[in-house]
Amino acid sequence: MDTQFLTRSEKNRIYRKTLKDRKRIVVKVGSSSLLHPETGRMDYHKIDILVRELSDLKNQGKEVILVSSGATAVGREALLSGSNFREIQEDSPITIKQACASVGQARLMMIYQKFFEDYNQIAGQVLMTKNTVTNNLSKYNLHNTFSELLKLGVIPIVNENDSVATYEYMVGDNDNLSAIVASLMEADLLILLSDVEGLFTDDPRKNPNAGFIEYVEKLDASMMGMGKESSGSSYGTGGMSTKLQAAWTATKSGCDMVIVNASDMKVIHDIVQGENRGTVFCADPDPDFDLVEYIEENV
Ligand code: GLU
Repeated sequence: MDTQFLTRSEKNRIYRKTLKDRKRIVVKVGSSSLLHPETGRMDYHKIDILVRELSDLKNQGKEVILVSSGATAVGREALLSGSNFREIQEDSPITIKQACASVGQARLMMIYQKFFEDYNQIAGQVLMTKNTVTNNLSKYNLHNTFSELLKLGVIPIVNENDSVATYEYMVGDNDNLSAIVASLMEADLLILLSDVEGLFTDDPRKNPNAGFIEYVEKLDASMMGMGKESSGSSYGTGGMSTKLQAAWTATKSGCDMVIVNASDMKVIHDIVQGENRGTVFCADPDPDFDLVEYIEENV
């Protein structure tokens, strides 16, 4: 179809319908979407719906990879209530965060395993750092592991290996991490579940006139500037700038990406049904895009 005379909203409507056909889907969930904001404790209701949605995607015949944050936040909460640990401070040594992540990652997986089992799915854990992708051999191994897991019908659950990574080796945020996984595994769709609605022309928390953008056909340098640093939550690390970086990696690798508010996890179903939710960034494959080069220069 010749789309050059269509309005942006018509193009969006048509494009959204094509999302139904995406086969390999990466879903990223941030810490703030998994925890009760008032207490910092796990929101089992939301996690249950997330797992149900992903299990349903699997049952539709899709391949699913979950990138989940939460290790540090869940571990912090566990340690606060059960040991002589006081709190993570700005100037806490990295070992404190690593210890939190070590406790939290295990707990998080325990919860995911339990819920996925309820929906008759098998989940596996993949922990990685920036080095896993920039080193040729470990990148090859990572790719093989993902491929084997997907072939076996397993849902890989991915996080940064926070308990051993230090800043030099870290991707640092799971927006970028999920896009790296999507690119490496040639996924067709990346869904970033967030605490924001999607992309605005300016920070909507500060500028009430900021306009919402539902459809990005081609990401360009002017749009990359729309990213604001703040995430609006005390748990995750991803603000809009990391989401835009993720959009760059995903779309240049030929993967569509949607940023959407995860206050209701059922939104995953709506997106994959082609409904108009959040902001969609259309795949815009660039044969010159080199994942490792991009990571080394930008992440
Ligand atoms: N990997 C971190 C964690 O699980 C989260 C990073 C992020 O918030 O994006 O605690």
